[in-house]
Amino acid sequence: MSVVALEIGGAYIKGCVLGPDGVLRDRERWFSRPERGPDAVLETVLECAAALARRSGAVAAGIVVPGVVDDASGSAVRAGALGWRGVPVRGWVSEHLELPVAFGHDVRAGGLAEARLGAGRGSRNFLFVSVGTGIGAAWVLDGRVEPGSRGGGGEIGHLVVRPGGEPCHCGGRGCLETVASSPAISHRYARLTRWRGVGAGELYHRADAGDAVAGAVCAEAVEALAATLATAVTVYAPELLVIGGELGDAGRGRLAPLREALARRLTFQAVPEIVPAAFGDRSGCVGAALLAQELGSGGAAA
Ligand SMILES: [Zn+2]
Repeated sequence: MSVVALEIGGAYIKGCVLGPDGVLRDRERWFSRPERGPDAVLETVLECAAALARRSGAVAAGIVVPGVVDDASGSAVRAGALGWRGVPVRGWVSEHLELPVAFGHDVRAGGLAEARLGAGRGSRNFLFVSVGTGIGAAWVLDGRVEPGSRGGGGEIGHLVVRPGGEPCHCGGRGCLETVASSPAISHRYARLTRWRGVGAGELYHRADAGDAVAGAVCAEAVEALAATLATAVTVYAPELLVIGGELGDAGRGRLAPLREALARRLTFQAVPEIVPAAFGDRSGCVGAALLAQELGSGGAAA
């Protein structure tokens, strides 16, 4: 059976179809434009899901969102990147889509996908870290993703790396996301140059091509990320860090400076291996498909 999967992010809604043969098809993405409000974004989600389902004959859909997610009630409790509070995603979409809908957290779904099918296969405990529009982590132990109480675990993007620094959408200041997320490095580059709207992927290319400003912006983000990961490694002692999102999508070479910066910070702690996510910035979408497959086969939604 085929299933439809959608990952709703602050910048894009990513969609795909996972076929019965385990092959991903119909990879698409649409602008989320969250400034329109949750109803309009969910209308777009519904249109995208219905189009993918019509083409594939899907029997179930999986939808994942960022922030604090209540898997049991199917609600986005708090999704700062979307400006959502208490949005009943699963109930609304399943009512209009006329398909069973599985619902979950984007980064935990990404961790699940990497554990079962990707870079975390065979690892007993690892941290999946997504670095893109937002920054979050999923703690995967024996193939199971630990959500924390009330679904609030893994929000490492809101650990403070610059006390009193720039305001963050969470209400705090100087969070990791204000320094190392894709929008943060794009804004910083725009402030230092006249280049506006340069995305993270293009910025990585420019840094690699010798653009000194792009290099400095990336280096600053890497140092902040390494500081946060040093904390996470000290707390969890994972054997592996799987990096997803746009940073993971940029490939193994982009992770070498992160590995060096992390190793410099650790003293007694074992330095974990750092690898890119097998699914690049699509791990969450693949995880959403796995949740939908479980639902379609009668298993419990996670
Ligand atoms: Zn924050």
